[in-house]
Amino acid sequence: MSVADEEMADVVVIGAGIVGLAVAWAALRDGARVIVIDRDFEGDRASHGNAGGIAVTESTPIAVHGMFTKVAKWLMDPLGPLALDWKHLPKALPWLMAFRRASEPDRYQAISHALALLNNRVYDDLLPMFDDIGASAMHYRRGALTVYETDEAFAADQPEWAFKRELGARWHALNAQQVRECEPSLAPVFRHGVFLDDWSHIGDPRRIVMLLRERVRTLGARFVTGSARAIESSDAVLLADGKRVKGRRIVIAAGAWSAALAKSIGDSVLLESERGYNATLPKHGVALTREVIFAERKFVATPLDVGLRIGGAAEFAGLDAPPNYRRSDALLTLGKRFIPGIDDTGAAKWMGHRPATPDSLPVIGASPRMPSVVYAFGHGHLGLTQSATTAALVADVLAGRTPRMPLGPYSIARF
Ligand SMILES: Cc1cc2nc3c(=O)[nH]c(=O)nc-3n(C[C@H](O)[C@H](O)[C@H](O)COP(=O)(O)OP(=O)(O)OC[C@H]3O[C@@H](n4cnc5c(N)ncnc54)[C@H](O)[C@@H]3O)c2cc1C
Repeated sequence: MSVADEEMADVVVIGAGIVGLAVAWAALRDGARVIVIDRDFEGDRASHGNAGGIAVTESTPIAVHGMFTKVAKWLMDPLGPLALDWKHLPKALPWLMAFRRASEPDRYQAISHALALLNNRVYDDLLPMFDDIGASAMHYRRGALTVYETDEAFAADQPEWAFKRELGARWHALNAQQVRECEPSLAPVFRHGVFLDDWSHIGDPRRIVMLLRERVRTLGARFVTGSARAIESSDAVLLADGKRVKGRRIVIAAGAWSAALAKSIGDSVLLESERGYNATLPKHGVALTREVIFAERKFVATPLDVGLRIGGAAEFAGLDAPPNYRRSDALLTLGKRFIPGIDDTGAAKWMGHRPATPDSLPVIGASPRMPSVVYAFGHGHLGLTQSATTAALVADVLAGRTPRMPLGPYSIARF
């Protein structure tokens, strides 16, 4: 019998990314005995290399009505913001069709309200977690700036901005002069800006994961290194090496790899890896104060403690295709064009798997088939942002409390 076989925990969490660790942290604070499983605790997943944005204003789904007219153009550009590996198309097709449906007006409205419910309480949950793990000093609440090169693009986005305000986002428009005053390092080509008051960023996503992991360890969690192959029964996770890890409740927080584990108990979900890229410039030499979102070009630049991170792209090629770092190069080229004078010495290129559902809503809540199993995955572009709120909700479920907000819209039953 393995060490893992001996102990029955209250909660077993599969996945030690930002979401799984946040869930473990919340469960530990409720007094639960927790085991965390990951095949590579120090790994380099989405949680380690993301853009670091606490993007609370992003309460509309990625599938925006009208975007589909641009998709063909984006796909034709080999290094544009969207890429599809055609070999992956048959597998991705059901997801892509559901993505299309998510942009229909009724769905779009309902999804946005559900996203806003989560995003509007992010700081209630995230600030105590940052405080407890010692990360508050690297949390920068300086807003964010969306910039527009053309009047047309700015005008076209106005209905979405108005809707976001209805959903609770605080923002105000800036003219070209105000954009320059707000971020003088940007090229003087932006005719409009939108200042997002409540967006913030962190100094280093990898360090946040590290601090949270160490705090979870200090609070008493046991870490098991192994690859979860299946949920074997209501209280047992089967690992690839044949060992079992036992717990009264099992949380699946395995990011973009979660679908196979859900399937092992018969729950279906549409989940794709939306592969994103970035380049981090340790010696960039420019003074950006806050995260900047380049509206037409679909990329962002975040002034992290570890360098200026220029990132974006959405590539659908599955979990196993090798990274195409020419996408990082393409992002860097854009960065140099719009933030003149940046030094790219020592630039580090990176790719990560965003765990993306077609409706941009995460999967949170108990399995309808096996209620001892609880889901916490599918956060797409917002996993860092929504990590602590997801953890608070999952902790409610694990402790048998009424969740602090209704979990219906996030249920796996919607697939
Ligand atoms: C380029 C890019 C930029 C981004 N920018 C932002 C941003 O600014 N703000 C924001 O909020 N979000 C951002 N995101 C999204 C965010 O990074 C993700 O939503 C989030 O990291 C997902 O966290 P996770 O814990 O669910 O998954 P992951 O970080 O992928 O962690 C999953 C963990 O599960 C483990 N695992 C998987 N399968 C198994 C198994 N079978 N057995 C054992 N272990 C397993 C993996 O090893 C991994 O450690 C960005 C993502 C990318 C790619």
